[in-house]
Amino acid sequence: MTKLSKRVLEMEESVTLAAGARAKELTAQGRDILALTLGEPDFVTPEHIQNKAIAAIRDGRASFYTVASGLPELKAAVKTYFERFYGYEIGPKEVVAGSGAKYILFAFFMAVLNPGDEVLIPTPYWVSYADQIKMAEGQSVFVQTTEDNSFKVTVDQLEKARTAKTKVLLLNTPSNPTGMVYSRSELEAIGNWAVANDVLILADDIYGRLVYNGAIFTPISSISEAIRKQTITINGVSKTFSMTGWRIGFAVGDPDIIAAMAKIISQTTSNPTTVAQYAAIEALTGDQAPIEDMRQAFENRLNTIYPLLAEIPGFEVIKPEGAFYLFPNVKKAMEMKGYTDVTAFTTAILEEAGVALVTGAGFGAPENLRLSYATDLDTLKEAVRRIKAFMEN
Ligand code: PMP
Ligand code: GLU
Repeated sequence: MTKLSKRVLEMEESVTLAAGARAKELTAQGRDILALTLGEPDFVTPEHIQNKAIAAIRDGRASFYTVASGLPELKAAVKTYFERFYGYEIGPKEVVAGSGAKYILFAFFMAVLNPGDEVLIPTPYWVSYADQIKMAEGQSVFVQTTEDNSFKVTVDQLEKARTAKTKVLLLNTPSNPTGMVYSRSELEAIGNWAVANDVLILADDIYGRLVYNGAIFTPISSISEAIRKQTITINGVSKTFSMTGWRIGFAVGDPDIIAAMAKIISQTTSNPTTVAQYAAIEALTGDQAPIEDMRQAFENRLNTIYPLLAEIPGFEVIKPEGAFYLFPNVKKAMEMKGYTDVTAFTTAILEEAGVALVTGAGFGAPENLRLSYATDLDTLKEAVRRIKAFMEN
């Protein structure tokens, strides 16, 4: 008898986390590796947030379980945050917190999908969606976007992909991995289509505060009352506040779905770590100035590194407007170096140039690779110099 379940045998390990782990392993072996793998801000969590967490440890509040769906004070903080950045009011029954946005997404799929229910996923997509949907016995339906349309899905494409089993449309703007940001009118058209066809919108807004060079993020849920009712919004503190290690994410939307997600959390992780909840309250409601400093640093990195990357022979890249990834098409670069498989090409860059990137294969993009610029400028410049030298060799 095989030891492992069919479920786990059919899953892939997260390629982003695997690439990050491989870079760390090679570095530990003494290799000179520049890792542009993980989408993880390189800044230490702002001090005012740290201080609130330390206080919660010292005075004993952090010692205990909280309600599984999160502290009432955290839900109130999400309410305040939504009033400020989404422009609408929410009630406490419309919020659930969990152990990172990734786990919140999983709780959502477990809460709404019956076997065979279809989730429309514009491709390229973030690596974990498809495997989570598989674990929840749903069916991913990939809708291929084109670089000509800046990797954005259109209503026409969605309508062609829709069937009687379509239950959810997943929308991630700004996008990981492409960095593209949907405009208000694009979102309005997509939102109205979802309402008309009773398709739930799962809006992954985790990069919403990270937009650059004047780009504007519009939360789809803020466009109209009807679209808002159709949407579950996912967000969290990992990216905006440089708090990836704290593991706090949350969802906002329909109280029945939120209660179902809370039930799943109560039987799996219980509450997200208490001290991290206190830190997240401060992140969401405290001083936002350090966040703007980090955003500006990302913008500066993007503006410096994008032209250098675009100069590399065989690399074709659209300038992103948000998140912290560049997603070049390397079809020509692969041809120039004699590769047909982007994963093998990514491994060659790792082995020969000492630069760790993530293969586009895990994002449903076999001609692209992903580079995270959530690291310091010196590392970025040296990494691009090495990739260029690799291509010119
Ligand atoms: N959604 C997207 C698009 C992401 O890139 C990430 C990256 N971690 C997440 C969700 C999950 O974030 P976390 O679990 O750190 O809150
Ligand atoms: N979301 C980040 C990334 O895409 C962190 C790793 C992960 O959660 O997959 O790199």
